[in-house]
Amino acid sequence: MAFEFFRKPGHAKEGNEPSSGNQAAPEKGANGPGRKLGENHDSLVSDPRLEKERPYMAKVLIVEDEHDLSIPIRDWLTRESHLVELVDNGAQALEWLRAYKFDVIVLDWMLPGLDGVEVCKRFRAQGGTTPILMLTAKDSVDDKERGLDAGADDYLTKPFHLKELSARIRALLRRQSSAQTGELRVGDVTLDTQSRKVSVNGKEIHFVPREFSLLEFLMRHPNQVFSAEALLDRVWASDTLASSDTIRTYIKILRKKLAAEGQENLIRTVHGVGYKIESA
Ligand code: CA
Repeated sequence: MAFEFFRKPGHAKEGNEPSSGNQAAPEKGANGPGRKLGENHDSLVSDPRLEKERPYMAKVLIVEDEHDLSIPIRDWLTRESHLVELVDNGAQALEWLRAYKFDVIVLDWMLPGLDGVEVCKRFRAQGGTTPILMLTAKDSVDDKERGLDAGADDYLTKPFHLKELSARIRALLRRQSSAQTGELRVGDVTLDTQSRKVSVNGKEIHFVPREFSLLEFLMRHPNQVFSAEALLDRVWASDTLASSDTIRTYIKILRKKLAAEGQENLIRTVHGVGYKIESA
């Protein structure tokens, strides 16, 4: 497992670099707003039959003008099964945010034109609720407050470990997910996220907390395939003793309990890829 410490060369000069049209080239064209989100991520799933089942954890928008920083971040997050889109200026970021729904925004503070704080303010003013993680070389308390006042959810000061970035993103996703309460329903199975009860046609099935969390996660993301490793990362984030075998064991337990109520096919195996719950 790579553990990369990322120090951006010359980050002290941040903010002085002009916007370069050429630098944007790798992302433009392929990633214009006219393109359907995620079409350029064939590396995640190469089998076209799985077109509707791309196993990604979250859609992440990276807004960063320095490509020596944004490209490694994009590659790192893509390897961690996120679906990543990259833009290099604030105006384009706002355009993308109007057109598409993301799960997390990684927003650099110092951008040419509209800076990160301004992007954040405008996005929130338009009613955008997506969690925002701001990247900055600034670390004074005042600056941090200014960003948080503008609507950022968390902060990461450059230079940072890419692992730290992933951890912050996972934390934001968990926070957002726990804020979404209510009832999840797939076929005859109902999961109440507040009372933490699962029932099939009104009959309750008892799950221990980890089983419940795993089922909840899969039901929150119907028709998406998750590998055992991705599930481990999302549902077992703080448990270092668990492995992908742990996930497989829990899937077996879930299936057994569900099968007792006639729901043996709720959790599907996609061979060579992972697990999913199908919802019409
Ligand atoms: Ca920058």
